[in-house]
Amino acid sequence: MPIGRRGFLRIGAAVLSSLAAPAPLLAADASKGRRIIDVHMHAYPATMPIEASANPISGVKSAIRNGADHYSACVAEMKRHNVVKGIVSGGDGDRLQAALDWHDHDPGRFVAGAGVRGSEDTPLPPLETLRKAFADGRLRVLGEVTSQYAGLSLSDPKYEPYLALAEEFDIPVALHTGTMPAGTSFDPCCRTARAHLGNPGNVEEALNRHPKLRLNLMHAGWPYLEDTMAMLMLYPNVSLDTGALDWLLPRPYFHECLHRLVEAGFGKRIMFGSDQMFWPDAIGLAVEGIESAGFLTEAQKQDIFYNNAVQFYRLAG
Ligand SMILES: [Zn+2]
Repeated sequence: MPIGRRGFLRIGAAVLSSLAAPAPLLAADASKGRRIIDVHMHAYPATMPIEASANPISGVKSAIRNGADHYSACVAEMKRHNVVKGIVSGGDGDRLQAALDWHDHDPGRFVAGAGVRGSEDTPLPPLETLRKAFADGRLRVLGEVTSQYAGLSLSDPKYEPYLALAEEFDIPVALHTGTMPAGTSFDPCCRTARAHLGNPGNVEEALNRHPKLRLNLMHAGWPYLEDTMAMLMLYPNVSLDTGALDWLLPRPYFHECLHRLVEAGFGKRIMFGSDQMFWPDAIGLAVEGIESAGFLTEAQKQDIFYNNAVQFYRLAG
């Protein structure tokens, strides 16, 4: 069942890949010695079967058979690219536990986030469960919040007590924004999902009700970049991540988007994220997506790869 649903992700990714230029064969040498934080990772339950499928961009087919293999492959890929920390949320099954398992395997490397949705088949967890996990410091992020897949925006009253809780514990919120894989609204999981609900402008009411909230607009709100910039301009507590865009979008186009954000003055608000999903080698592709952006200075790369995440997520350097 979960794999069936994830089939849509693969279809969506395949559609994108058909538009993509071949990934440049840059060696990862440039990133050696550079410490990287990946703020957008997903974990799956250790025993969940994962059928091997080729990465839609690289064509690499890994030997992953389940969530445990996926974890090991992701950690190996992180080490290869000096990704010293990852903010991870569950992508299926018991989402909270999947993220906590990664954290418990390697507490210095992983910060666990609460992946929540709020749909009929993926209801919000009990508020008290989150209160306890935030109080214990076991979960340190509310996200990835995939309200768009539930046909809702973050400003919907359904999320109100959760945002109040995040504000109370000074827990940053990471929200899925922008669009979704092709066919998502035809999947039984997500019949009320709509593209327009991913417009970052939808977060305004939530932000004004909770002015102390720190919000990461995951996927940078693409393709609604004008609205992303409107939010960044007006709300100093908002940042974004480059998850999925940095490896799934055609590279010249991704660079164009990144360039616009940097040129507009938001270089300190952009955080590196891979959104690697089922493909561990996507972490390396995503790193390459930033490294190969010739318009970025070394200092700007270091901000995107590391400094901005330390600041936004208040991670110990
Ligand atoms: Zn997402």
